[in-house]
Amino acid sequence: MKNTLKVINYVLLGLALVAVGFGVFAFFQYRAVPIAEYESSAADLRAQAQLVDESTDKLSEDMKAQQDALREDISQGGDEGKTLASDLAAALSDNEDKTAQLEELRAENERLDNIVEETLAKRREYASKIRELEEKVQAGETDIKICYWTFDDGPTRLTTQVLDKAKELGVHVTFFTSHEANESEDEPEMLRREFAEGHAVANHTYSHQFAAMGNLYQKTEGLIEMIQKQDEWVYECTGFHTEIFRYPGGSAWAKALLGTDPTEAVKEAGYEWIEWSCDVFDNGVAGKTADEIQSMAVWQVKQLDIAVLLSHDWNANTLIAFPGAVKQLQDAGYVFLPLYPESVTMGENTKIKFS
Ligand SMILES: [Zn+2]
Repeated sequence: MKNTLKVINYVLLGLALVAVGFGVFAFFQYRAVPIAEYESSAADLRAQAQLVDESTDKLSEDMKAQQDALREDISQGGDEGKTLASDLAAALSDNEDKTAQLEELRAENERLDNIVEETLAKRREYASKIRELEEKVQAGETDIKICYWTFDDGPTRLTTQVLDKAKELGVHVTFFTSHEANESEDEPEMLRREFAEGHAVANHTYSHQFAAMGNLYQKTEGLIEMIQKQDEWVYECTGFHTEIFRYPGGSAWAKALLGTDPTEAVKEAGYEWIEWSCDVFDNGVAGKTADEIQSMAVWQVKQLDIAVLLSHDWNANTLIAFPGAVKQLQDAGYVFLPLYPESVTMGENTKIKFS
């Protein structure tokens, strides 16, 4: 019994020991797993933290770089912005200046347009007064006689002298102008002076190539083109159109070369044409002396009460003859006037002896 108890005791003790052992084992087992897990998690976390640290460093480096770039951009943008702003301010102020200038120019333009309109209106008024005078002369109601002294083929280098002399004498003449006929010092200025000093600026074609091989009388269209081109040139220089046309070489020569009468086409182009009734013959090869030209002018004009005298402002002798002839004719009752399309002397009438 005693032995049995002992065995039971040993068994129980053994069981107890096993249980304790198991408990200890279980305890350590229980303890060991979380620590290992913890340690493994901690390692992971440390690794992750390391990664986070590294990423953070990387990020912060990137951000710094971005910030730097941004700062650079901003500072550049700032400079650009400043430049742009100052450019814009300059442009705006420039724009204001230009707008003001434009306004001034518009006002000036309007003023000039008005002057041109007034001048054209005065021109018509003046032309109709001359026409009235012509009719009185023709009707014998006045002692006044009229000389239309015309200078062809200019402006030339001598035109300035014609203008000076005409001004001194207080007379007005008509210039049949042709751009290519002669050289001039300052043609636009000459044309402006002719106009501004009260003379008539008329049309003698742009090219003046009236010889058989020239471009003027090959076809009527060519002639009209050369008339219009001269008008454009005069308009460009003076702001006024030409109104009267004279054929280089005369109308008979023009008709002969063209083989047709261009009168209608000339009229359709807006021109009155004119010939001449007196000629000082200053365009010949055998040059006339100044005295000859003066006598020729005075004698011929005196045959007529309304005379259209042909001369050329490239002939130096004509310039010498001009003042003397004018004075002699003024003494004989002649006034010197510019030609207008309203004149009785236009077209075929030029050669009619108004006496
Ligand atoms: Zn000519």
